Amino acid sequence: MYGVVTGEVDEHGQPADDTVVVALAGDPLYVGVKLLDQEHRLEDVRLLAPVLPRSKVIGIGRNYAAHAAELGHDLPSEPLMFLKPNTSVVGPGDPIFYPRQTRDLHYEGELAVVIGRICRDVPPEQATDVIYGYTVANDVTARDLQKSDVQFTRAKGFDSFCPLGPWIETDLDPQAFVDGVRVQTHLNGDVRQDGTTADLIFDIPTLVAHVSSVMTLLPGDVILTGTPEGVGPMEVGDEVEVSIAGIGTLVNKVAQR
Ligand code: MG
Repeated sequence: MYGVVTGEVDEHGQPADDTVVVALAGDPLYVGVKLLDQEHRLEDVRLLAPVLPRSKVIGIGRNYAAHAAELGHDLPSEPLMFLKPNTSVVGPGDPIFYPRQTRDLHYEGELAVVIGRICRDVPPEQATDVIYGYTVANDVTARDLQKSDVQFTRAKGFDSFCPLGPWIETDLDPQAFVDGVRVQTHLNGDVRQDGTTADLIFDIPTLVAHVSSVMTLLPGDVILTGTPEGVGPMEVGDEVEVSIAGIGTLVNKVAQR
């Protein structure tokens, strides 16, 4: 069931104590927002992934200069795109499964853009018209397979490799990302990534224009905007937390597959 989460989220990605969820009739991406007379406290509900992409998750690689440098790459001259299957999506609190095929499973905390309507060839200046909102993502990556395979499909595509959530922020001025929104990743409580969207090489309108010049975007499709520096390994039992100021905090644990 879908719902509207009310209230503000602070600069650490934490919601206010009095946050409630108002139930909706149907999926708002397809039927619009139809409020039901049914309200729950946030702590009483179990959140699922806020969107199941109808067709695709598009990842953008090396979109922060310091992250490209830490992996030993030059800066891309245009956005580097890859796909994650929609079957990789899981929600807040769901396990990230450690596949037996890798020995180097990495977190990548990222801002995610959720598309709200079918579109193609979107000019950058109209990008916000097709954006439904923003959420938090972990672009989980098998780093060893990313290096050994020519394509990213396996390294980025295992089930549970795309945690999304905890919800979609639909009321955010996109100028905030230009000014700089903090993106942080904690592993077992220790800060590992601390970036700002002000450092994005290609900004969100540029990404929407670029991706939609290649493939039609459908409602519920998701664009991952890239990860700041500080990527690193996770082990079974680790808790990984990605926070974006004003949007939310996404927490998942790594489990044996
Ligand atoms: Mg990434």
